[in-house]
Amino acid sequence: HLRLDSLTKHFGDVKAVNGIDLAVDDGEFLVFVGPSGCGKSTTLRMLAGLESITDGTLSIGGTVVNDHPPDERDVAMVFQNYALYPHMTAAENMTFGLDSGLFDRSNHDEAVAEVAETLGITDLLDRKPKELSGGERQRVAIGRALLREPEVFLLDEPLSNLDAKLRVEMRTELLELHRTLRTTTVYVTHDQTEAMTLGDRVAVLNDGRIEQVDPPQRLYDYPETRFVAEFIGTPA
Ligand code: ATP
Ligand code: MG
Repeated sequence: HLRLDSLTKHFGDVKAVNGIDLAVDDGEFLVFVGPSGCGKSTTLRMLAGLESITDGTLSIGGTVVNDHPPDERDVAMVFQNYALYPHMTAAENMTFGLDSGLFDRSNHDEAVAEVAETLGITDLLDRKPKELSGGERQRVAIGRALLREPEVFLLDEPLSNLDAKLRVEMRTELLELHRTLRTTTVYVTHDQTEAMTLGDRVAVLNDGRIEQVDPPQRLYDYPETRFVAEFIGTPA
């Protein structure tokens, strides 16, 4: 599980994240949704250790990790732009760095085969990223995260570069994966539909603050602010 207490990030005068309080339960799928610039990526990057924390406390699995570098946090992140190494095959991309630190896993081949099977990329493992479609690349990136068996998955708009049809397909696959693995997940999107379909709870972010965090249906039926009502699209 994951706990954010008054988590804050300022870039000079820019108050990107303004005191976020949130506890994410074990096995929960939590979605951050909100307009461009509201602080979604910055929040996720602080969780991953890719951005320093200006103020507040972050704990993962009961340990305060504010000052832990990325490879000492039990998290795996999937980015919007895949972030694969161009000179490595899909399989090499998935296992790169697996031999060290928190994610030391023996028996890679078997684990890779299993994850590839789950994601339907078994026949693509020897290909380089440039020989893969966007959807296939994103499956490899997700496979890379899965192989790490982290305490928490962090996903920043992982489907936004895909066409509409594939986006819906992958959404369903992500849900199925989550039902099987039950890994605590924090998922960032600016897409309301995606948020409402995927989240056990959805946190609506505005100007670096959480306006409301609730299960999708509750958010839709009982928006607490005008911003939430308008963003989620509750009829007046
Ligand atoms: P999007 O939906 O467009 O990805 P976001 O919700 O992910 O938006 P962030 O990337 O978290 O937004 O940015 C939040 C705010 O912080 C924005 O005003 C942005 O300009 C600012 N910001 C982000 N990174 C930096 C940085 N490295 N230096 C200065 N300002 C930054
Ligand atoms: Mg972003």
